[in-house]
Amino acid sequence: MNLIIDGGTVVTMSPKGTIKNGIIVIEDDRIIDVGKSRELKHRYSGYEKIDAEGKVVIPGLINTHQHAAMSLLRGYADDFPLQEWLEKWIWPLEKHMTGHDIYVGALLTAIESIMGGTTTINTMYHYVEGGNEAQAFAKAGIRGTVGHVCFSWRKDEDRKALRALASDWHGKADGLIRVSVDPHAAYTVDPEYMKELKTFTEELNEKYGSHNSPIMWHTHAAETDDEPEKIKRAFNLSFKGSVIEYLDSLGVLGENVLAAHCVSLTPKDIKILKERKVKVSHNPISNLKLASGVSPVPNLLKTGVTVALGTDSPCSNNSSDMFEVMKVAAILHKGVCKDPTLLSAEQVLRMATIEGAKALLWDQQIGSIEIGKKADLAIIDFKKPNLRPLFKEVSHLVYAVKAADVETVLINGKVVMENREVKTVDVGKVLETAEKTKESLLDRLVEEKK
Ligand SMILES: [Zn+2]
Repeated sequence: MNLIIDGGTVVTMSPKGTIKNGIIVIEDDRIIDVGKSRELKHRYSGYEKIDAEGKVVIPGLINTHQHAAMSLLRGYADDFPLQEWLEKWIWPLEKHMTGHDIYVGALLTAIESIMGGTTTINTMYHYVEGGNEAQAFAKAGIRGTVGHVCFSWRKDEDRKALRALASDWHGKADGLIRVSVDPHAAYTVDPEYMKELKTFTEELNEKYGSHNSPIMWHTHAAETDDEPEKIKRAFNLSFKGSVIEYLDSLGVLGENVLAAHCVSLTPKDIKILKERKVKVSHNPISNLKLASGVSPVPNLLKTGVTVALGTDSPCSNNSSDMFEVMKVAAILHKGVCKDPTLLSAEQVLRMATIEGAKALLWDQQIGSIEIGKKADLAIIDFKKPNLRPLFKEVSHLVYAVKAADVETVLINGKVVMENREVKTVDVGKVLETAEKTKESLLDRLVEEKK
């Protein structure tokens, strides 16, 4: 489809900065031109047009840490410490989730994400052939890196799932879907298996990946202070130092590794992350809700580590709203460090867009509004009481915009939401199915306990 988005303010997140009365020209899935409307408009007559007057266009937001299917468990268990929350509540119920449940949960998250201006999700969950997150993302038309989460207690199952995931989905759905290998964490994946998964990822990359479209590693690291103790207890190990040092000693850290959380870090860890080019996904709302602590993000940024943002799962957040995450990220570190100059609005918006793309090694194609990139865009209505008066768009985007202010969303050049109407799926039906699916999941848990 040939399309122009005309008359809005375009926040490019590229060296072109913010363009007032801008125009974005899209052919098929790509942006072919961007600039001032009066300079470019006459060259593109006959194109379909979205009138963006009074609106702000941004690159679609990139959520770098999610467990999309877990929306089915939203609000099921709150206000517990991480270990108790996982072991007593989440894992026993998740055990009963089928492929169908995973699909429904992921579809619900995809819809919520699109309606909040998120166009790419990096998700870690169980890959089940016949019902999974990749299918749900493809159906909703959202971009994503879909992983399979690996645990020591099910190695054979993991290997099989990873092979199927890579061959069925990497680069599929018009390039919307990429896949990743996801060791859950250093305390649930033993050191030998961790190393094996590294080699396994290399093998999968040789077969299915490419330099421009690699199969990544997505893991949880240093989420809480007691993680080294948990690793030692789980695998009867003794080692000195932090989780990051431990992972580095296994030789698994590298530029295709995305580590979620990185809350409990020493200055030495930050140096290692920088040297190994590990990408960090900062999840401030989840970390606060689970009382894990606060990641030293200002120091990571100062050292030059790529830091992106994530919501984490819809039951540790409990929403998939990246605007909320941006605002909390921007104010949290100011408060903790008593320094209002930390994490400026501009920097935080970068973390949710272009830095998110870098963290997923996808920045050649997404993360900014530039010629040649994929047309993944969110159009936000600024004619709202919470967005007037207007001094600087970037300030409002981080501190004042709500997910509900997002009006229209394009992914891969396709309009997936127009004037808040999702085009790819019947939202009402999905909400109904999600409620039924939750009920039947609870029934199975009750049945097991009988
Ligand atoms: Zn997580």
